[in-house]
Amino acid sequence: LYVTIDLKPGTRFAADERTAHYLKNVMRRAVGDPVILFNGRDGEFNATLADVAKKTVEIEIAALRRPQMGVPDISLCFAPLKKDAVDFLVEKATELGVAAFQPVFTKHTAATRLNLERLAANAIEAAEQTERLTLPQIHEPRSLSDLIDGWDPARRIILCAEAGPALPIAEALSNLKSDVRQTNAWAILCGPEGGFARSELDLLSKLPFVTPVGLGPRILRADTAALAALAVFQSILGD
Ligand code: SAM
Repeated sequence: LYVTIDLKPGTRFAADERTAHYLKNVMRRAVGDPVILFNGRDGEFNATLADVAKKTVEIEIAALRRPQMGVPDISLCFAPLKKDAVDFLVEKATELGVAAFQPVFTKHTAATRLNLERLAANAIEAAEQTERLTLPQIHEPRSLSDLIDGWDPARRIILCAEAGPALPIAEALSNLKSDVRQTNAWAILCGPEGGFARSELDLLSKLPFVTPVGLGPRILRADTAALAALAVFQSILGD
């Protein structure tokens, strides 16, 4: 269960409204029942419900279960999609261990708005479900040109270009030179449902730290493409 407070053994605290509701009404937990807590910083702790009242739940923190661990520094840069597709993407990419989400507006991005609070809530639920001890960061949307201008060259981009002749992703990642494989910061960049504009692909292809990859001959939906790329990345370079 994700909480925002610092986790220290022996501390007792009142759960926030969301957590209290979840424990009492969804999970039907009672006094003395165990829960497991994480906050993205201190590791994972055993805890017990110390008091369950009409509107409040008190939790007592016990021993550390697992020390804090990180996730590979992989950002998912994606063009905002329709509500259901973006919810699905955030949930599944969090399960697959993404460290950060960077929404990117491109020429052919159809969606114009993104509810970052809802995305953060989806990420918390997915992190809890998958028992990762960190939450992915969710950055403010940026335009593609702005993103490229401010890009940190230490972070290498895996560009899912389009269905077509690009080198298959598994081959491209397996063949990376050993110094590139040592890179600590990565990004996967996928286009919108309308695809990248030719000028955007030209701009991206000139970056010295980009690896264009293909995901097969089929045109995948943007959310499918991002998740497929992430799964292959994790199996070859991640954990
Ligand atoms: N309108 C585009 C077209 O007709 O080619 C399709 C865009 S696709 C729905 C959305 C994004 O997913 C693309 O911009 C690309 O980043 C990624 N994508 C989809 N299929 C892919 C594939 N087979 N290989 C690499 N990237 C792919």
